[in-house]
Amino acid sequence: MTAPTVTFDSAELAPRERLAEVQLARLRATLARRGLDIPITTLEDLRAVPFTTKDDLRARYPLGMETVPPEEIVRLHSSSGTSGTPTIVGHTAKDLDTWAFLVARLLAMAGVRPGMVVHNAYPYGLTTGGFGFQQGAERLGATVVPAAGAPLDVQARLLRDLETPVLLCAPSFAAQLADTLGTHSIEVGLFGGEMWTPVLRDRLERQLGIIALDTYGMSELCGPGVAGECIEGRDGAHIMEDHFLAEVIDPVTTEPVAPGEYGELVLTTLTREAMPLVRYRTGDITALIDEPCVCGRTFARMASVVGRRTDVIEAGGARVYPSEIERVLLAHPGIGLNYQLVVEGDHLDVHCESVDGFGDRVHLAAELRAALGVDADVIVDAPGGVPRSPGKAVRVVRR
Ligand SMILES: [Zn+2]
Repeated sequence: MTAPTVTFDSAELAPRERLAEVQLARLRATLARRGLDIPITTLEDLRAVPFTTKDDLRARYPLGMETVPPEEIVRLHSSSGTSGTPTIVGHTAKDLDTWAFLVARLLAMAGVRPGMVVHNAYPYGLTTGGFGFQQGAERLGATVVPAAGAPLDVQARLLRDLETPVLLCAPSFAAQLADTLGTHSIEVGLFGGEMWTPVLRDRLERQLGIIALDTYGMSELCGPGVAGECIEGRDGAHIMEDHFLAEVIDPVTTEPVAPGEYGELVLTTLTREAMPLVRYRTGDITALIDEPCVCGRTFARMASVVGRRTDVIEAGGARVYPSEIERVLLAHPGIGLNYQLVVEGDHLDVHCESVDGFGDRVHLAAELRAALGVDADVIVDAPGGVPRSPGKAVRVVRR
């Protein structure tokens, strides 16, 4: 017997026709704000509107994409800038308010309730995870522990001593915690901010004895709060469709793909003030799930992201996403959750860890070849042998 669904607001259960009306009105307002004089009578008319890309944002660096006067911008966040010119995103006071609402809704979908202690290990700073979840958890009325940046053993102790039921962090950080945590009271983890696979989810759930839920966001759109899984269904992240309009396109032809088919996620913001984005190409490869969810929410869902368009590894005689390699590796319980892929020219090294004496590198290499057609050297280290990073995992190193 499952508990009845508790929603944060009535929009989550609104009929699709009503949702479409709201989307259409908000889309018109967004296009006007962007200065795009394009007549829109149905949502399908959006297809005539040009895409926006990360290069568009970079070309107008630092603040050329804002549509409000500078004095209305109360905060700036930025991407990490590790892969080129960073993208800076401005927020008005109303943007911050909407963002907090969306994250509160996302937390409520995951079963978080007012008064629950929430351990937030997403980094606070230029990137959006720390502040985004902080504001959302406060809006919901939860008790936030801003733990990011504290040493791993200190965080583990806080989690144990406060008997914290909710963990917010990157999945790779949860994997690090899993090795050191010991007895704990965590019931649910909301993980996101980097690619992770259903195999890693299963492993984390079993090793920690928790429910692990997928969340999706990106700093250009606000941060966390774009989509999140409900605890009732746990099968794809509900997109906050009253605030974001989602399309999935073939990344090469840019034609829309059918529901259930994988392609590049394209999002249009419907309520952002400072930097509305129209048909923003996220680069993330996913599929839309438009079948009803057991929870009764009417927002469509997105499958867990298999990778970024640009993440693809062309080495070892094949073209593979890191997530495909993760699926093969982590299907072995004897292989640890931390791994790293090193690409040098056409050569691929797969570094992983043996957790209980499993060290059959030849066997793993053969599996990678059989499953993905990729020739890789597999290096199986002792536990702790693969480098850790405090925020997002560095899964791929290109030399
Ligand atoms: Zn659901």
